[in-house]
Amino acid sequence: MTSTDLTATPTLSAAPGLIPSPASPYQGDIARYWDQEARPVNLRLGDVDGLYHHHYGIGAVDRTALGDAGDDEREKKLISELHRLESAQAELLLGHLGDIAPDDTLVDAGCGRGGSMVMAHQRFGCRVEGVTLSAKQADFANHRARELRIEDHVRARVCNMLDTPFETGRAAASWNNESTMYVDLHDLFAEHSRILEVGGRYVTITGCWNPRYGQPSKWVSQINAHFECNIHSRREYLRAMADNRLVPQAVIDLTPDTLPYWKLRATSSLVTGIEEAFVKSYEDRSFQYVLIAADRV
Ligand code: SAH
Repeated sequence: MTSTDLTATPTLSAAPGLIPSPASPYQGDIARYWDQEARPVNLRLGDVDGLYHHHYGIGAVDRTALGDAGDDEREKKLISELHRLESAQAELLLGHLGDIAPDDTLVDAGCGRGGSMVMAHQRFGCRVEGVTLSAKQADFANHRARELRIEDHVRARVCNMLDTPFETGRAAASWNNESTMYVDLHDLFAEHSRILEVGGRYVTITGCWNPRYGQPSKWVSQINAHFECNIHSRREYLRAMADNRLVPQAVIDLTPDTLPYWKLRATSSLVTGIEEAFVKSYEDRSFQYVLIAADRV
């Protein structure tokens, strides 16, 4: 334990690999989903440079990096390009965390295989604590941290992000990267608000349904069924933040920036079948990809 460790009562925290009882049957389903998840679209992209993401990409596609249609290496180049866009997404999120010092601690809620945690440590030199429902993911992330010899700074644990063992008011910043659609937003933001220091920053990148469309479209419903999740509306995010001392500093519509990623991904051999729902719902404006950065006041 170091002085910046956020865990008030380490004995209450789960060791990586142990599966504490999920708080609900639904959380048990989600833990199983991510324990079994081994889609090539995630693993082969992570193999490019050892940063394993379970989120989507943003930015313009670099056509010159893809090579010609007949290029033997085209699939490999396409994978590298999709991965570059996914890492660009994480960089954008990290860029909204504010000024982070090496002795700060950050919390990644729903950390997956830990790609964003590694990037945060490499960028700020700080400590990063991640939580996931999946023991497989936590093991994977901790194994990667050991390989990179940063296990004293980057740690994942199996834990419900609505009820974390972190001390009150100690985290300089916290985030959810595509992991808010598994939880009630009021419960989630209450927990972020508790662990963040006053003046700390919260950031999320997420898909949300657009209140201007009216209700979740059929495409949004398809995405919910595919991932066993519950996509919230943009309105719900802002309301739940306002109710929990989180004041938005930036709300950025990333929809136009993520469409090139989805259109490129739809042409690859790694398609998962959900690409059409994303492209169609982004195009009919029923679904939006947004970044929200908020100050804990
Ligand atoms: N943020 C990561 C992973 C996103 S995938 C990335 O960008 O790569 C969604 C993640 O949310 C999974 O790791 C899943 O275990 C986690 N998750 C979902 N519900 C959770 C909960 N209640 N507590 C902790 N983690 C949760």
